[in-house]
Amino acid sequence: MTAAEPIRRPPPDFRIGAVVAAEPVTPRLRRVTLAGEALVGFPVPEPAASLRLLLPEPAGLVLPTWTGNEFLLPDGRRPVLRTFTPVAVDPTAGRIAIDVVLHGAGPAADWAAHARPGDPVAVSGPGRGWTPPPGARSFVLGGDESAVPALRQVLAALPADATASVVVEVDHPDARHDLGAPDARIEWLVRPADANRGDALVAAITAHPDAPDTAWWVAGEAATVQRIRVALFRERGVDRARASVRGYWKRGAAGDAD
Ligand SMILES: Cc1cc2nc3c(=O)[nH]c(=O)nc-3n(C[C@H](O)[C@H](O)[C@H](O)COP(=O)(O)OP(=O)(O)OC[C@H]3O[C@@H](n4cnc5c(N)ncnc54)[C@H](O)[C@@H]3O)c2cc1C
Repeated sequence: MTAAEPIRRPPPDFRIGAVVAAEPVTPRLRRVTLAGEALVGFPVPEPAASLRLLLPEPAGLVLPTWTGNEFLLPDGRRPVLRTFTPVAVDPTAGRIAIDVVLHGAGPAADWAAHARPGDPVAVSGPGRGWTPPPGARSFVLGGDESAVPALRQVLAALPADATASVVVEVDHPDARHDLGAPDARIEWLVRPADANRGDALVAAITAHPDAPDTAWWVAGEAATVQRIRVALFRERGVDRARASVRGYWKRGAAGDAD
């Protein structure tokens, strides 16, 4: 094999489906449910797993080809692919939902805002998720609006005797909603328009004490989670095996930060 030959493992095939429902979870988050025969058998993912969503071209859905390194459309362009957290996966019925943040201008946010039953779409996945580290009982969880669907799943996966402290930084008060975890301590930090993105989340997460049974799960904007990584791992020496700190999107850049 020469250095120029492809080295990346092909991702799972795309499965074509169609939108069957689209409804608001909050004014900032829209749940789009997809269904189709090809979605039957989509594996039930781990909590906070991912899927790749292939958005239609203006002329309709066009499946890309894996070149060995990336997906390309027949005309050589890159397809519009975005990453979301699969929720409400029903492999028997062939149904999957995603909760999409209506953050403003972006193909996926725009697609979700206007999705109608019958719209064609395709998904590939699932990608790796998260399970509680063995022995962890005290959980520090956080993120921004893009992490909320995953946070709900992380909270539901905690051991019954665990305690959880959750911080979510949101751009708008309307993003706050029930995360389905009545025993967790949940703090919603609404970012003032003149505040730097991530400052409140970084401060709240990194102020938490660490103990041998503490585990951390944080996801959100790439620069914000990088600041959290530096504070936890480099400055405080938190054990990386007990922490998942993941970039979900990058400010000013299209596509996700994975
Ligand atoms: C593992 C994983 C799971 C994810 N799960 C979810 C999920 O369940 N729900 C969800 O909504 N997102 C989720 N994301 C994030 C999502 O993939 C990105 O937000 C994606 O960029 C959105 O695509 P877009 O076409 O709307 O915007 P893009 O075309 O990618 O970006 C356009 C512009 O909008 C900005 N932008 C993108 N996302 C946001 C945002 N959330 N808030 C503010 N500005 C933004 C970009 O910086 C850019 O300037 C996940 C990402 C990963 C890696």
